[in-house]
Amino acid sequence: MAAMEPRDLCEQSPSYVRSIAPYQPGKPIAELAREYNLDPASIVKLASNENPLGLSPAAKLALQREIADLARYPDGGAFDLKVALCRRYRVAQENIVVGNGSNDVLELAAAAFLAPGASAVYSQHAFAVYPLATLARGAKGIAVPAKQFGHDLDAMAAAVRTDTRIVFLANPNNPTGTFAPHAEVERFLAKIPRNVLVVLDEAYNEYLPEALRFDTVKWLERFPNLMIVRTFSKVYGLAGLRVGFGLMHPAVADLLNRVRQPFNVNNLALAAAAAALHDDAFIEKSFKLNRDGLKQFEAGARQLDLAFISSVGNFLTIEFARVQGKPQGGVIFEKLLREGVIVRPVAGYEMPDHLRVTVGTGVENDRFLVALTKVLGR
Ligand SMILES: *Cc1c(COP(=O)(O)O)cnc(C)c1O
Repeated sequence: MAAMEPRDLCEQSPSYVRSIAPYQPGKPIAELAREYNLDPASIVKLASNENPLGLSPAAKLALQREIADLARYPDGGAFDLKVALCRRYRVAQENIVVGNGSNDVLELAAAAFLAPGASAVYSQHAFAVYPLATLARGAKGIAVPAKQFGHDLDAMAAAVRTDTRIVFLANPNNPTGTFAPHAEVERFLAKIPRNVLVVLDEAYNEYLPEALRFDTVKWLERFPNLMIVRTFSKVYGLAGLRVGFGLMHPAVADLLNRVRQPFNVNNLALAAAAAALHDDAFIEKSFKLNRDGLKQFEAGARQLDLAFISSVGNFLTIEFARVQGKPQGGVIFEKLLREGVIVRPVAGYEMPDHLRVTVGTGVENDRFLVALTKVLGR
């Protein structure tokens, strides 16, 4: 039963909040099972860039141990996880802010630097949380047209205005899988004024092929306005626990900590993340599975004569030809659902001709390719 809509109340919410378009998450397996009366076990979800291998065995053990202590509040300072991160990245605890997912860290950056009258710069087709975090603060979002679906770094640097407080950069980017070489990012950083925060979101960093890997953390010494954001949701397989972190100058970390909820990351997430960080065997296995899966998808797309955006992430974004001038992303998404395969429509990213497909296990990837062949009538 719904009471009468409290319109007088809702109108009191700032117009910049009311005009935000809600985030559209990947469809949960249980929801599709209910809607189409399917067996959940038969459904393949390749929609949210999760790790198909689940979580690392080391993280699982840490979780089992941690359950005994759940009546206690978490360590708001995230000491153990920070110690592990310091060892891994050769930074000091003062450089680290831990978040309830890296989305939390992105939000904290917006809370600390954005307000009505300020602006943030990001790319067209970039991760949806950048506009969300920007608009929720009443700041203006400046979306810079993409170049072949990737970030146009020169245009982004040129778009910085005197009221710009943050530039968001996703490298690799989601949902396109595009990558800006590190030399270009370095030149970009050198061009950005020191009073503008550059948020470099590297959620897919661990999936980069060896030849593209680079220690971006060392840039922190040269660029005090740089914030590097990483997550445990992707290769580490902890998306459901919500934990990520940012590396930044201690003075910037201090600002973020002022707007951070004191207990923003729960006990289980902290323990699992600290354990997962050093499970190199699991990371390597996940990495290899992903390289194989990307090749499988690319071969499958070529066989079906489908164009795709070259990806260095754990997903491939595939293009579908228009039919009578109409984009087909949404149509094919719906048809795949009926086959029990969930992928991600990206019309909300101004890409109505594309679908983003997360790399799964070999068997899951096959299920997708077979279903796709069928719905395309090939
Ligand atoms: C998946 C993703 C994240 C991770 O968000 P969490 O809140 O850590 O789960 C961050 N940035 C990008 C670009 C992503 O695609």
